[in-house]
Formats: sequence, structure tokens, C-alpha cells
Amino acid sequence: MQRVLRKTTLITIVFFISFILVASGGIAYQRLFTNTPQVNECANPDLRSCKDISPAVDQPLTPDPQLNNQQRFLAAIAYNLPIIPQPGTFEYILLRAYGAVFVNQEPEIQLPQKVILANEQETEEFQSTLMMTKVDGINGCYLQQPAAAALNKVRSLINIPLKSGYGSGDCTRTFATNLRFWRKYANNQTLEKVRQGRETAILGIVAPPGTSQHLWGLAIDLRAYSPQQRQALNQNGWFQTVEKDLPHWTYIGLPQEDLPLFGFRKKVIRGVTYWITPI
Ligand SMILES: [Zn+2]
Repeated sequence: MQRVLRKTTLITIVFFISFILVASGGIAYQRLFTNTPQVNECANPDLRSCKDISPAVDQPLTPDPQLNNQQRFLAAIAYNLPIIPQPGTFEYILLRAYGAVFVNQEPEIQLPQKVILANEQETEEFQSTLMMTKVDGINGCYLQQPAAAALNKVRSLINIPLKSGYGSGDCTRTFATNLRFWRKYANNQTLEKVRQGRETAILGIVAPPGTSQHLWGLAIDLRAYSPQQRQALNQNGWFQTVEKDLPHWTYIGLPQEDLPLFGFRKKVIRGVTYWITPI
């Protein structure tokens, strides 16, 4: 009788442990691939309160080497983006094209809570939360503070002119400027094709309304065509992340050797190194 009881107890314990293991594995999987628990509270985001309930980022995130590139990238951006878009959606296409900045872990950097800012008002609301700093010697050229500081350091070492020379177009843009640029190269039909995943080349020329990295204060268009200029930018956290958009530079704020750890894929096109998101 005692023996039977012991056996039953043992089976119960084994069953219980297996159950916990399976359940916790499921939770970990869900956290990584869908949404973190705070997501629902952020469904209608007030940008600041959403930021406050994001996981604490006291120390720099260390990517888990057990994960594959895509998993490491998604795990890193989950710290900044409360709702990870589902594959196949317009938001996911935009995250693939412009989402590199979301791996940034610097506390001074603010990121939008979603990949599309719906209109001028939403863009202004987000931009009003940013700590902006002027890029030295260029009128009307502002970037988020760490991005501007890094760029100012680069430009004190080596001359790098803006692409067009106009701060309001080359540096941080308003929603209206993003829209104006879009309409110069594309239209509603193009937008529909991008939404359906039938058109991607345009994303390397101009960003759809409300989706440009230039709205976030973390991008600048430069004439940095020599290896020396590019190297100086790379050594200070600036990278080319949008395929075939040659003048476009993105502030990621990580050392180049860390980019693969965060899942980035290195792609060299005509001698230019782009760091592409792995999604
Ligand atoms: Zn650009």
C-alpha cells in the first residue's frame, strides 16, 4: 500500500513539474513572438505612460546567444515597441524597412510606441517628448540629443555636408514634410501596393506618410560617400540601414561589432555596407 502511495506521489510530482515546464516555455515563447503583457494597457497609447510601464532598462540588454537573429532582434525591440506587428501587415513591412532604431537602449532616446504616426498632431505630440539638440553649423537641423552629439563629434573630425543643405528636409522632419516628399515620388496607388507587399523599392527612396525615421529625430541625409566619412560615422553609432537609400543615415548608437548580436544582417551593395533588420 505504502509503495503504491509513493509511486502515485512520484507520478504526481513528475506530472506537475512537466506541466510547469511546458507552461513556462509557452509563456516565454509568447512573450518573444507576440506581445509583452503590458500591451493591452498600451492599446490606446499615451506615449509617456506607455514608456513608463515598459520593462526597466537599467543595464544594457545582452542578446541571448541561444536565439536566432530574428528572435534576438525581436527580443531587443520589445523593450521599446509595446506591440510587435504581426508578419504580413503594413506595420511589419515598415518595421522591416525602418525598424533598426528600435534596438536602441539609451535611456535618453525616445521612440514612438508604434511604427506609423497617424497625422500631424500625433507626430507633434511625439516630437514634443524628445530632447533635441542642434547639429553644429547647420540651420534648422535638429536630432535627438545622443544622435546629435555623436554626429557633432564625427563632423568635428571630418567634413560631411548635408545631402540637400536644408535642415528641415535632411534632419528631423515634420509630418507635412514627410508627406510632401512622399507625394513627390509616390501616390495612393503606390501606398496600396506597399500595404499589400507588392512594392518595396519605393521604401528605399521615400517613406510613406507618418513612417519616416526622420520624424523620430534619429535620421539624417548626408553626402558621406568616402570610406573615411562612412567609417567615422560607423564608429559613432551611425549606420546605413535602409537598403539602397545611399544618403540616409540612421542613429543606432551601438558599436558596429554588436550589430550582428542584435540580429542585424550585413548586406554590401556596390561597396556600401547596409545593416538590414532580420525580419
Ligand atoms: Zn533620409
